Amino acid sequence: MPATTQPTPSTASFDVEALREEFPALSQDVYEDTPLAYLDNAATSQKPTPVIERLNRFYGEENSNVHRGVHRLSQDATEAYEGARTSLAHLLNAPHKDQVIFTRGTTEGLNLIASTFGEMVVGEGDEILLTEMEHHSNIVPWQMLAEQVGASIEVLPVTDRGALRMDLLPEMLTDDTALLAFTHVSNTLGTVNPAQDLIDVAHAEGVPVVVDGAQSAPHMPVDVQALDADFFVFSGHKMFGPTGIGVCYGKREHLEAMPPYQGGGDMIDQVSFEETTYDGLPHKFEAGTPNIADAIGLGEAAEYVMDLEWEAVQAHEDAVLEYATERVEAVEGTRIIGTASDKTSVLSFVFDDIHPYDAGTVLDREGVAVRTGHHCTQPLLKRYDLPGTIRASFAAYNTREDVDCLIDGLHKVRQMFG
Ligand code: PLP
Repeated sequence: MPATTQPTPSTASFDVEALREEFPALSQDVYEDTPLAYLDNAATSQKPTPVIERLNRFYGEENSNVHRGVHRLSQDATEAYEGARTSLAHLLNAPHKDQVIFTRGTTEGLNLIASTFGEMVVGEGDEILLTEMEHHSNIVPWQMLAEQVGASIEVLPVTDRGALRMDLLPEMLTDDTALLAFTHVSNTLGTVNPAQDLIDVAHAEGVPVVVDGAQSAPHMPVDVQALDADFFVFSGHKMFGPTGIGVCYGKREHLEAMPPYQGGGDMIDQVSFEETTYDGLPHKFEAGTPNIADAIGLGEAAEYVMDLEWEAVQAHEDAVLEYATERVEAVEGTRIIGTASDKTSVLSFVFDDIHPYDAGTVLDREGVAVRTGHHCTQPLLKRYDLPGTIRASFAAYNTREDVDCLIDGLHKVRQMFG
């Protein structure tokens, strides 16, 4: 433990040390006698024992294909798979589990929406409104759609501090705007966007809204009905769940009107060479054998997250972010990128004179896992005229001790690069 450490206080309802014990990967040394300080949660989170054990139990006891089998194992697997869907519906407060479509993750969810709903509502001459802080996966599918149908991409800018220019929103929502897609939380800046305002203003103009929840689902309770989001997508692996699985929630009227995303088994009602009819929700959007085990693992992660005392967890995460912000600011030559008033769990910064990659390499040898680079937000980095940042990103299990390891590492970086 570094000399500067102030132990992270636990509150009555949130014991961070007890939480850490449930994540086996956190207690390892990454190099000889160098404990891991895992600060790359915006890329992917570590997994708690209940999720790991649930995956083991599925493969050890229940493994079978879903939906089509009459035998015991297939029934067990189907029950577990559909049970996971119910857990995800509870997590999002979706009106019905049929509105929860399993995908490979946020990226696939956005591609699904762009190539089904997008093709229905975006036509020649229309505009798709995005924000300047989008992840590439909430840019490229819309560009592909725009190119295909002859639409254009419009971009709501960000301020120097990394907040959305909400003052420009009314004028950017024109008669030609066919759709608004935005990230709930920026993976590069940590900005929490005013989702409710964005949705309300867009809806007042009759514009449907797609919310990229990749970075919000792990850090706050989400209520898709209260938000009135037309679509909400996220990835399981950033929220204590497995990789390769995520969710696309949609309003029923949209999902029912949309054509299928992919064709194949499990998404059909009747098939003949002359004509095929499709199954109802949610199966219409889940062609082929799904990622059964990981969907079940994600269901377990959803239950795990729902058991967390959110108020206490958020207070803890905010306190760690504030502590990290103060301490990084105090390191000579650093500059924080993203200082919006509403932020969560992401701290991006640069050294005036040291490349982020060099800093990341030194930090790694100190056991500190951060991400360096453009974080799949090249247009945003261009806005700030930066090649990349050093990004420390936090989860509920991170502590001030983790931050102290980061700071000690940054002092080493300073020493090495002058
Ligand atoms: N959107 C945001 C805001 C993200 O942070 C990420 C991943 O970092 C994605 C989308 C893409 O998620 P995935 O790679 O899990 O599909």
